[in-house]
Amino acid sequence: MPESILVLTHADETGSTLTKGSLEVVYAGKELAGRFCAQLTIGILAVDADAAAKSLAGSGARILGVSGEVFAQARYASDAAACEALCNAAQATIVLVPQSSRMARVAAGVAHRIGGSIDTHITSIRGNSDIEVSRWFYRQRIEAVVTRSPRPWILLIESGVYPSLMGAGPDVAVEKVAIDVSAPRTTVIGTRAPAKGTQTIRPDAKMLFVAGAGWTKKQPDGQVHASEAGDLILGFLQKTGASLGSSKSLVDQGGDGEPVLPFLTHLNQVGQTGSTPRHVKGLATCCHGEEPHVVGWRFISERRAISLDSNCGWARGKADVVYVADAFKVMAKVNELLSSKA
Ligand SMILES: Cc1cc2nc3c(=O)[nH]c(=O)nc-3n(C[C@H](O)[C@H](O)[C@H](O)COP(=O)(O)OP(=O)(O)OC[C@H]3O[C@@H](n4cnc5c(N)ncnc54)[C@H](O)[C@@H]3O)c2cc1C
Repeated sequence: MPESILVLTHADETGSTLTKGSLEVVYAGKELAGRFCAQLTIGILAVDADAAAKSLAGSGARILGVSGEVFAQARYASDAAACEALCNAAQATIVLVPQSSRMARVAAGVAHRIGGSIDTHITSIRGNSDIEVSRWFYRQRIEAVVTRSPRPWILLIESGVYPSLMGAGPDVAVEKVAIDVSAPRTTVIGTRAPAKGTQTIRPDAKMLFVAGAGWTKKQPDGQVHASEAGDLILGFLQKTGASLGSSKSLVDQGGDGEPVLPFLTHLNQVGQTGSTPRHVKGLATCCHGEEPHVVGWRFISERRAISLDSNCGWARGKADVVYVADAFKVMAKVNELLSSKA
């Protein structure tokens, strides 16, 4: 049976612009539809689906949309009902969905409602005669390739795997899909989020800045300079918008009663027992570059490190460039240059 592909997309907080993750999945859908000569449909969930569809100009896909103020906020009942209606309207066999928190929350329920299967955290879609998807298990050490014959099959695609589709051309026509979510039981009364600037984990940033335990160790003058370290790191993050990662040793230190950087938590930890972020560039500072840490850098394309130790793990082939230097001095100079540039 020929495949019919639906890409489910959603708007960001403006309600009228598709998220970056959505446009990446549109790119994946277009590529897959071309490979399997399949029909491509794009479903939009937005306050204003017509406005959101502007970025899909030239995609060549059939566009379906659900619109309304009710989609201004993520809410299980309305989002699941919208996705179900879009899946039914498209009669799709393959449904590609961004692995955003909004979609991940409803996707399994939608799979159940449409009698389909679901796989999450997909990092590639391959195959020519059968669709093969891959995902990582066991802290990114085992890559599994999955095929399934039952349809529909919902696939949640990780962000940063595909480029974003850059639409251009005349406005596209959106076919309205009607659903009744007039009286949702859940009312969203607001959002509580960390104050702007205090959130240091930024998955969409181009650069990852990793702080290692060296920042809080005794320096050549025999003293610990934890507060200066904190200022240098936060200054760099503020000027560049980079995301902050950490080694395990540094985030564990609080529990060991050693000097800590107060803005770091275990959520910042990168590595085998931490996260495996996806940024184009990475800069490790005061970090030794041991294998359990560097395994978390699997998806970082360009790696640089600053360490006093010319024999550290980074210098043994784990980084593209290693600066054997004092990170306090280097980062102070970098921040100074960034300030003068601004
Ligand atoms: C089962 C297991 C799982 C683990 N999982 C993880 C994980 O998920 N993530 C992780 O990070 N680790 C993990 N580890 C720990 C890992 O093996 C290392 O112990 C840890 O990464 C070391 O952290 P570090 O490099 O920051 O500290 P250190 O090894 O103490 O290195 C500090 C570095 O800073 C340098 N330095 C000091 N001062 C300066 C300065 N002024 N300028 C420049 N450089 C300076 C030193 O030369 C040194 O190289 C795991 C270990 C095990 C056994």
